[in-house]
Amino acid sequence: TARSTSAILQLDESLQPPLYAKRGIVLVRGEGAWLYDSDGQRYLDLMSNYGVNILGHAHPRVTAAIVAQASRLLSCHQSFASDVRAAFLEKLLAVAPHGLSRAFLSNSGAEAVEAALKFAWAVTGRRKVVAAKRGYHGRTLGALAATGEPKYRQPFLAVLPEVVHVPYGDAAALAEAVDNDTAAVILEPVQGEGGIYPAEPGYLAEVRRITREAGALLVLDEVQSAFRTGAWFACEHAGVSPDLLCVAKGLANGVPIGATLMTEDVALALPAGVHGSTFGGNPLACAAGLATLETLEDDRLIPGAAELGLYFRQQLLALGHPLVRDVRGIGLMLGLDLKVRSTPVLKALQERGVLALPAGTTVVRLLPPLILSRDEVDLAVARIAQALDAVRE
Ligand code: PMP
Repeated sequence: TARSTSAILQLDESLQPPLYAKRGIVLVRGEGAWLYDSDGQRYLDLMSNYGVNILGHAHPRVTAAIVAQASRLLSCHQSFASDVRAAFLEKLLAVAPHGLSRAFLSNSGAEAVEAALKFAWAVTGRRKVVAAKRGYHGRTLGALAATGEPKYRQPFLAVLPEVVHVPYGDAAALAEAVDNDTAAVILEPVQGEGGIYPAEPGYLAEVRRITREAGALLVLDEVQSAFRTGAWFACEHAGVSPDLLCVAKGLANGVPIGATLMTEDVALALPAGVHGSTFGGNPLACAAGLATLETLEDDRLIPGAAELGLYFRQQLLALGHPLVRDVRGIGLMLGLDLKVRSTPVLKALQERGVLALPAGTTVVRLLPPLILSRDEVDLAVARIAQALDAVRE
């Protein structure tokens, strides 16, 4: 017999370490921009599982690719070639920023960052890394060292590699920190977890110039920003190409994947055996990734995200709500900066059938699937207004 919702919630919580603030929902199904819980209640999804379901849930083309691949070959170690891996890499590198010609495949954002840092250390023979305050790069040891949020780093400081954190957007502070011992600078072109802060015009170009001059590599972390800012990659808005670029989340629409893209120079300087992954580049993730990239292209979802994001942002600004301090972001990576804490607003939204995310303490972060319709944006804006009103009372 089926378990009750409360029994599932209790079991789920009691069998795992208490690392997450739970939402009290059992998700059982998703379709398009909608998620359904164990009681049949539906939610408009403005978070895409932290930016993962870029094409929404159960996208037919991705599902078909997964089913076909699962019935053919699930796993294929990278010491063997794979038809679907080759096709996926060809597609990924065809849409990649200028100069990035090879990719190392792994299984998550943090893994993509770990690989980028190891590659930078291996290629330069240098040690120091410079990153940004408020930056987020994951919670494995290398990625955690680069992450700027003190609450995540503090308990592990003693075991983390050396990383210097400078204020995001301050090119002079970065220039001061980068020296001839610097292996890499790692930044998000749009800070996500930190509160949705797009790089100011000119900042990334300046960072590119500073890293070149010092012989340090530039690593851009697009784990959250890839595909959703109205360009394939957010760094395109600045006309800047990095030496290494990290992608994950949306890349296979939900099948775990990470990719570390690199220049030919970086790739050819890497000794055999310097890094590896058993699951990395597995055919299932590659098939889902290929279908995702083809759908983004064929359905014109990259320019679509620019248009819909602009509309969404305008509608939020048009609310002129007294609790809203600022609406930031680009494409469908948006942040509603509030004059109050975001947690009660997110709760009020959830009660009204809308799922969104926090960022920092006062920001409601919106990372909706790119297949969202204008009607769904209108519904989202109406619910956000209601949630803000509810919190104000
Ligand atoms: N980099 C960025 C910019 C991210 O937003 C995240 C996840 N929020 C990560 C890295 C880490 O990705 P994962 O959780 O898949 O390890």
